[in-house]
Amino acid sequence: MLPRRIQGAPAESRDAAAYRVAIPAADHEGAHQLRLYDRLPGTASVDVLTLSDAAVRAWGDVAARLGRALRGFTHPAASRVMLWDPQHALELRAYLDAVSDPDTRALVTRALDRFEANVAPIWHSLRSQVIHGDLSEDNVLVDEADGSITGIIDFGDMAFTALAVDAASVIEALVAGRTDDEVFRIARIVLDGFQKVVPLEAEELAILGDLIAARACAAIVVPAFRGALYESPDALMPVHRTDGIALLELVERIGPDEVTRRLGGRELGEAETVAQLIERRRGALGSAITALSYEEPLHIVRGEGPWLFDADGGRYLDAYNNVPVIGHAHPRVTEAIVRQARRLNTNMRYLHGAVLELAERLIATTEGELDVVMFVNSGSEANDLAWRLATTATGHSGGLCTSFAYHGVSEAITALSPEVWPRKLRPPHVETWSPPDTYRGTHLEPSEYAGAIERLAGHGHKPAATILDGVLTSDGVLDLDPAYVQELVRLTHEAGGLWIADEVQGGYGRTGEAMWSYQRFGITPDFVTLGKPMGNGHPVAAVITRSDIIDRFAETTDYFSTFGGNPVATRAALAVLDVIEDERILANALSTGELLRDGLRGLAASYPAIGEVRGMGLATGLEFVVDPQTKEPDPDTADRVMNELRRRGVLVGTTGAQENSLKIRPPLVFGPREADLLVSTLRDVLAAPSSGPAAAPARA
Ligand code: PMP
Repeated sequence: MLPRRIQGAPAESRDAAAYRVAIPAADHEGAHQLRLYDRLPGTASVDVLTLSDAAVRAWGDVAARLGRALRGFTHPAASRVMLWDPQHALELRAYLDAVSDPDTRALVTRALDRFEANVAPIWHSLRSQVIHGDLSEDNVLVDEADGSITGIIDFGDMAFTALAVDAASVIEALVAGRTDDEVFRIARIVLDGFQKVVPLEAEELAILGDLIAARACAAIVVPAFRGALYESPDALMPVHRTDGIALLELVERIGPDEVTRRLGGRELGEAETVAQLIERRRGALGSAITALSYEEPLHIVRGEGPWLFDADGGRYLDAYNNVPVIGHAHPRVTEAIVRQARRLNTNMRYLHGAVLELAERLIATTEGELDVVMFVNSGSEANDLAWRLATTATGHSGGLCTSFAYHGVSEAITALSPEVWPRKLRPPHVETWSPPDTYRGTHLEPSEYAGAIERLAGHGHKPAATILDGVLTSDGVLDLDPAYVQELVRLTHEAGGLWIADEVQGGYGRTGEAMWSYQRFGITPDFVTLGKPMGNGHPVAAVITRSDIIDRFAETTDYFSTFGGNPVATRAALAVLDVIEDERILANALSTGELLRDGLRGLAASYPAIGEVRGMGLATGLEFVVDPQTKEPDPDTADRVMNELRRRGVLVGTTGAQENSLKIRPPLVFGPREADLLVSTLRDVLAAPSSGPAAAPARA
């Protein structure tokens, strides 16, 4: 069988003589010359279509490991020009005349044009080094039993080029002769093997299809022009030429974007319009799913620090999201997650040092009486568990919360979330109290709360627990007086109930003064529940409580949450704690929050529609009223301003029982420049009350 690729006659190695023996010939004078080789295990003849998936993955793994072994290696000849190397793909154009079939020629021309447009401009920014360059079946020995690569016997294509070319070369070799679906399935499995060792960068994945296509072009053009030099050109590389054509046709049939998507280089749904996604969301997620934010919903695809970016490249200042407490896509967290996910993610029934470190560090943020941590996956779960612990520890059944609280999605916690009570019906075991409204001078006394405990008793329930979000996010973002809260805690304990400090909103430094919002009040809660910001976007949550409470619970049952405190979540949470210290997040929340509210109060002086600006740290409420004298809530203005801000590239929400307050609750990396931008954009919105044509958000 002729070799599929002719790279020129092999040069003799300098010490080749050492491997030669002469055997005397019986039938004529002289001797037979034999050349001896070390024998590597494996066969040189393999049909790649018969490789198992495990073998395919192992080929990807070998390609990546080879690249890793070659890191730092260089050689003067490494920069030679070979047409197989996609780096020089555009030079194939000079040989296109050798391709006799005009359709094939046009096919190759279009692929090279795409390469010129997509890849050539970014080539200089791709990771490059000396790589093998052609890890195909012709160049390797393969284990006959399992199909894995046992040896590499031809390094003739080595060159200094883009690292991703080796992934492309293996894919091109292994997808030959496969059906469309198999092409991509096999390609993805190769990538699994490759990326386990060397993860590709987004830019590399995005052009992988073009790299494969460039190799397909070479597989068509090189044999064509070389064939012209020989008598029977088809004998040279017939298989390759056909495979190259098939690959390029496949690219055109499904389109280059789809190729990228199927190779994992593009997020699902990224190419769809907002209207298409809304339609699909309605169908697939059902009617109960929460409404999308804003009259013009957003399709956000990327975040960085306090910024969000939509699918069209529009840039939005995020003054709404509290989950990414240290900024969107913080590299410390994403790296921690990825590194741990590559190693291991399991459940809580194995020993794992990091989760213990996390528990101990969380306990150290409290005042000492709280001495145990239980890990779960969401704020809702944390509150649910705290509630269960409270009812078990007290033997009571009643719950207390503020009049427009939200604490979570489980059945038990929905009961403590008036904001989402079905048909606004109060469950019989729950009572609410209205938090002080200092702006209107109502509900100022703790007697309001004492009344709620009495009403609860009237329904036959003693309090098991009171739950309070320390920044009262859904009640409108309210700043409570410590003495008032201390009295509430005292009344609760007096009635035999426990206190749950829900830190899902107010925790992780949002108030700026302390890590947890309850610490502003000088109280010691019985439970501190953590959620959203804890993993900066990775689901992880916890209950910090006392061991005597847990011990009561443990008398009757135990607790197991499969993912609660898993190694990946734990790493994310530890990274968040580290960054909060390193970046002095609390100090920033404190100073930027003051600056922001000063700016907003400055606006309030000119715009009487702003009734009150209040808050602490980077939790701010800005209340709109119809008339500053009557203080009648104005939800329409709040809604209009929120939507106008969105149109101008600033994201906030609304809150409060009347929905008449802006909720300004940005990531805590929101600095003075961002605060200024928010204030000036709000000024623009207030100065242009009609909903005329809005400025588009800045393009990134
Ligand atoms: N507590 C508070 C105060 C919240 O605001 C929320 C969610 N907004 C939760 C608990 C529940 O968190 P999750 O939705 O992550 O379960």
